[in-house]
Amino acid sequence: MTTLSRPGIVFVVSGPSGVGKSSILRAALERDPNLRFSVSHTTRAPRTGETDGEDYHFVSESAFRELIDADAFLEWAEYQKNLYGTSHAAVEGPTGEGIDLILEVEVQGAAQLRDRLDAVFLFVLPPSSLGELEARLRSRGSDDDDVIRKRLEIAQQEIGHVEAYDYVVVNEDLARAVDDFIVIVRAARLERGRVWDEWRSRFESE
Ligand code: 5GP
Repeated sequence: MTTLSRPGIVFVVSGPSGVGKSSILRAALERDPNLRFSVSHTTRAPRTGETDGEDYHFVSESAFRELIDADAFLEWAEYQKNLYGTSHAAVEGPTGEGIDLILEVEVQGAAQLRDRLDAVFLFVLPPSSLGELEARLRSRGSDDDDVIRKRLEIAQQEIGHVEAYDYVVVNEDLARAVDDFIVIVRAARLERGRVWDEWRSRFESE
């Protein structure tokens, strides 16, 4: 197989909390060796099973604010009283090596990236109602009632931003949603601009 040396493609993925974004993305990462997950910074406390440096860089609010002042972030936003941000380094390192990168960010961060990155924007929708989403959040068991209520309110607001995205994946069935995601990744890799930038020189007369 011919190896291409194009820069990596960035996939920005948003969707309400509990919609199954992480499950879709985890499965996609297992299936596609050229995909990687961008590790964000956050001031939120780690959940059970989360590892610093893998799921997030868990930092204090003062450390996060220092990074903002140092212009370390490509985007950052406050979500449910915690700060979340994608560093320039998290994106530029992997994409410079040709690795396609997934950025899982909420809608305010995604809106900032619209102007700053040439990326593919994807929104994950819950299958039916917010009631179903509520059941999922409860079964996850990691958040209390107030947090869940607030998350549902935010979910409603977030769904209002769907028109700013290029693709929508409805997570009705996980396997199908993963397939849909992979199809979008493959289509992006085949966009004429990207392919032709790489291949043009081979077809130009000498
Ligand atoms: P959680 O606390 O459940 O891991 O994430 C809460 C929300 O923050 C999710 O919608 C997630 O996509 C978003 N998020 C995670 N990392 C980032 C980031 O780097 N920037 C922004 N803007 N949002 C993020």
